[in-house]
Amino acid sequence: MYRNAKNVSYYMIGDGALDQLGELLAPRRDAMPDQPAVFFIDHYFEKTDLVSRLPVQEWDMVLYIDTTNEPTCESVDAYSDKVKKFLNGQKPCALVALGGGSTMDTCKCVGNLLTNPGKATDYQGWDLVKNPAPYKIAVPTISGTGSESSRTGIICNEAKKLKLGMNSDYSMFDQVLLDPRLTASVPRDQYFYTGVDTFMHCFESLSGNYRNTIVDSFAEKALDLSKEVFLSDDMMSDHNRELLMIASFKGGMAAGFVGVVHPLSAGLSMVLGMHHGIANCYALSVLEDIYPEPYKVFMEMLAKQKISLPKGICKNLSPEQYDALYEASIVHEKPLINRLGENYRDILTKENVIERFKRM
Ligand code: NAD
Ligand code: ZN
Repeated sequence: MYRNAKNVSYYMIGDGALDQLGELLAPRRDAMPDQPAVFFIDHYFEKTDLVSRLPVQEWDMVLYIDTTNEPTCESVDAYSDKVKKFLNGQKPCALVALGGGSTMDTCKCVGNLLTNPGKATDYQGWDLVKNPAPYKIAVPTISGTGSESSRTGIICNEAKKLKLGMNSDYSMFDQVLLDPRLTASVPRDQYFYTGVDTFMHCFESLSGNYRNTIVDSFAEKALDLSKEVFLSDDMMSDHNRELLMIASFKGGMAAGFVGVVHPLSAGLSMVLGMHHGIANCYALSVLEDIYPEPYKVFMEMLAKQKISLPKGICKNLSPEQYDALYEASIVHEKPLINRLGENYRDILTKENVIERFKRM
């Protein structure tokens, strides 16, 4: 069976493109007069003048997303209840997400819950969403996850100790607006941690067993762009911020099959609450045998950008915590098989995995 692959329908890119958000929303407002738009905005922007520059109407909803922690089933359910209460039976003309992976994923998952019954946990997995979500626009304000162009919205399920997305064509954005001016305010470390997520997705995909030439072509270009940015003198120059946005967008289109970095990273997020980007960095820092070449390039990037990754984050944990780290990593069969084959447990024995965490 061949899969019918979907991509984002429209995208706009350019310095200052945010000024055209109103233009992109106008047809939605015309088609559904008086129906509100719902803006999902990263809480960082609450103390900036961003909202005053957005085409928000008085009947719209502005929802600030707390990204102190990454999205969970509970946070998504809570936002979705808030939005439903605000809408009070009306259909939104559009959902607009301005933020990073956490904000965009929250918007994607809430969108699915507005048109499908039940809770977030019911849709963690592949193709479980039955009804199309409302029209959605993504405006990334930090580059790297590729959430703007991928078909998943990732959420942590605390009860099941599982980090898993709502993988569905309905999770995808209908329109993406890429304005590199928006990423200028990202703190340097955060810019690096989130930005290298693209690098990770792409080399993991390219060194896997499940391959496809179209996906490879996106991944190869995104990988080249991310190397260019992170091996340059100033990863945050105007030009490099634009390149990284493009890399992220392409990386999201290539997203699908990752490898060993993401399972270990998911373990760190589930057990220690560590954020995705930095958790990926720690994961790759102990996978020199499994990914020798990417490991070498990554170390060069860290040095070039003067980003530190202090050691000892998994020191002195309890035996239960080490067990939990192992369990929350090894559960991700698909990516582990992608890199290591069906017998991945022969290499990643419990001792081997715990020893890696201890070295972080
Ligand atoms: P994030 O969205 O959590 O944001 C990180 C930090 O950057 C936050 O503190 C935020 O306030 C701040 N920030 C964002 N934009 C800013 C700006 N312009 N100026 C100043 N500060 C700004 O980080 P992220 O790394 O983009 O997203 C991580 C999440 O994405 C994780 O939950 C991860 O699992 C998920 N993810 C999703 C996909 C996907 O395809 N859907 C892929 C990879 C990762
Ligand atoms: Zn990732």
